[in-house]
Amino acid sequence: MKRIGMIGGMSWESTAVYYRRVNEQVREALGGLNSADVVLRSVNFHDIVTLQKLGAWEQAAGELSKVAKELEQAGADMILICTNTMHLLADEVQASVGVPLIHIADVTGEAIAEAGCRRPLLLATRYTMEQDFYRKRMEENFGFEVLIPDADDRQDVHDIIFGELCCGVVKDSSHRRYKEIVEKGKAAGADSVILGCTEIGLLVSAADFDIPTFDSTLLHADAAVGISLEPIRSARGEMGLAAPIH
Ligand code: GLU
Repeated sequence: MKRIGMIGGMSWESTAVYYRRVNEQVREALGGLNSADVVLRSVNFHDIVTLQKLGAWEQAAGELSKVAKELEQAGADMILICTNTMHLLADEVQASVGVPLIHIADVTGEAIAEAGCRRPLLLATRYTMEQDFYRKRMEENFGFEVLIPDADDRQDVHDIIFGELCCGVVKDSSHRRYKEIVEKGKAAGADSVILGCTEIGLLVSAADFDIPTFDSTLLHADAAVGISLEPIRSARGEMGLAAPIH
């Protein structure tokens, strides 16, 4: 099994979801007492948010690159930045290590394309919704037209993430607000929804919407498990055995 390296803590509320998910997926695939091989470095989110607010992206890239190197030194075979927003710095982080960075927008985009959707509504932080690094990557790699909410709605989506979900607060009023924003997106032509912030799955899920919904956290964790289990799966293939082995 390959070792999954996680840069977590942004926020820890969603890193906990990642940790649970990778372990559940390995248990489902291999059975018994099997669990994921993970090395996790959890940062102080307060410090990262301070850099975000200052627009000190270069310094933030330095911090995350340092963490990525630590994970590589601890034997990580791949790196996950466990937040969509900080993929703004994905190129710098990737350049700092020799192991692959699993890009959250790529694995989410693959799932959307596989489902045959083309006009996803992106719900995320304002950084992710308003800057190029995420939408443009999806538009160029997959040919999507990525829709975003209007300015007031973007502010609410953002404020609910930082003011509530990252602090472990889940409110019915915010649940209703997100549903309302998705309805507006549908009216504007969205054929699917991206939960493009790793905490949004704490508030809403696919069951809340009647269009396909893609949770970036779960897709990212699942992609890591898929890569982690490749050596086991190929060994089984070579041995001609049927999976799973319990
Ligand atoms: N976890 C969030 C995301 O996926 C926001 C936290 C951050 O700013 O890194 O974008």
